[in-house]
Amino acid sequence: MTSNAKEPKMALDAKSPAATPLNDGTTDYVPLRKKYNSKEPHITEQPITWANWYKHINWLNCFFILFIPFLGCVGAYWTPLQLYTGIFTVVYYFNAALGITAGYHRFWAHRCYKATLPLRIYLAAAGAGAGQGSIRWWSRGHRSHHRYTDTEKDPYSAQKGFWYSHIGWMVLKQNPKRIGRTDVTDLDADAVVVWQHTNYIKSALFMCLVFPTLVCGLGWGDWLGGFVYGGILRVFFIQQATFCVNSLAHWIGEQPFDDRNSPRDHVITAFVTLGEGYHNFHHEFPSDYRNAIEWWQYDPTKWSIWVWKQLGLAYDLKQFRQNEIEKGRIQQLQKKLDQKRSTLDWGIPLDQLPVMDWDDFVTEAKNGRALVTIGGVIHDITSFIKEHPGGKAFISSAVGKDATAIFNGGVYNHSNAAHNLLSTMRVAVLRGGCEVEIWKRSLPDGKSPMLTDSTGQRIVRAGDQVTRTAQPVPMLSTEAR
Ligand SMILES: [Zn+2]
Ligand SMILES: [Zn+2]
Repeated sequence: MTSNAKEPKMALDAKSPAATPLNDGTTDYVPLRKKYNSKEPHITEQPITWANWYKHINWLNCFFILFIPFLGCVGAYWTPLQLYTGIFTVVYYFNAALGITAGYHRFWAHRCYKATLPLRIYLAAAGAGAGQGSIRWWSRGHRSHHRYTDTEKDPYSAQKGFWYSHIGWMVLKQNPKRIGRTDVTDLDADAVVVWQHTNYIKSALFMCLVFPTLVCGLGWGDWLGGFVYGGILRVFFIQQATFCVNSLAHWIGEQPFDDRNSPRDHVITAFVTLGEGYHNFHHEFPSDYRNAIEWWQYDPTKWSIWVWKQLGLAYDLKQFRQNEIEKGRIQQLQKKLDQKRSTLDWGIPLDQLPVMDWDDFVTEAKNGRALVTIGGVIHDITSFIKEHPGGKAFISSAVGKDATAIFNGGVYNHSNAAHNLLSTMRVAVLRGGCEVEIWKRSLPDGKSPMLTDSTGQRIVRAGDQVTRTAQPVPMLSTEAR
């Protein structure tokens, strides 16, 4: 039961100037509990000090998400847990959690599918039993979270730390001006949403506490157990589990679709949150009714929506094309590959090498520097001669010469690895040497015509090295050499 709905009618008051829709379809944030005077400085604009810390605390939220659960823990010490109460609590836990994941989140906040009136009423009632505010308040914050992920306008930005995104954003007061704008006109047009919002405190008290107490009390005489376990502690666990979507799902796991923001995929988060743990996928494809796209991944929320579809309660389940999903995955893989590539030594880029005349090349080679030209690129192999796998003799005979042919099959058709290694020894390009010089001259702005990756590095595919000839040169006879 978070604080939002004490005077909920105010939020729906269309005459309120702050609620007037703007041209972009968004509406101003209208505080739901107390009319906010935007002319006065908000408490969050002052730093927290010993003198004012209590003004920063949202005491009503603290009462519902910290104090009541604490009382429940204390009460549980003196309340024996009966078997039927335990079973009911677990069953009701999953129903109320589904009200949040399948209802508040995937149906109302994201419109991932369409639901018939009976299903909408069930989801609104079950969600009220999770004590997380009204559908309208919850969805508005969540839409801001998606629209402004990780920014100052994200109501529970992971950038402000694990505990802030988990619970701190509710424990501390938030500046209404800070939260990003979103459009909730569709929610205001839904009678179930409006009814639940205007009657939120009553419906939440009933579904959170009264209903489980009645079931356990009338059912098998366990009034106190129903109140403590089926009511308080169940709500506490659902709250903490759902808060994990904002905290844990932005902290642990993989980022297979995009790593520019914090959302992550992890099976632990999925287990805690009825399948909401594939959060990297979800932030990329928010209107997909699935969070887990593989059949073997744990997403009971998706399974429930699918079952409702079979029962005729849900329809128009939205799903992104596999083609779009795979494009995102490939681009992220490519990005990782590029990052890995950029850590390797591919030799000095050709356009950064000095140009050397043939005569200078020959002279330097004669003066003891072991220079070899291959494919118009000059390599200094001085320190490599003694390590040459083919022995010293062959490689030494190439010094001071154009060894393009003998390197590419004339003596031995060198491996891909050999071409890669050779590139790390390059020191200059030969004036007039093969395509390199032509390529350099044809590019006045110095831009590389070669394929480059996202880090700007040239991609050198196997067999594409500049030192490699299009066709291997036939083995030269001894006489020819
Ligand atoms: Zn998120
Ligand atoms: Zn979402």
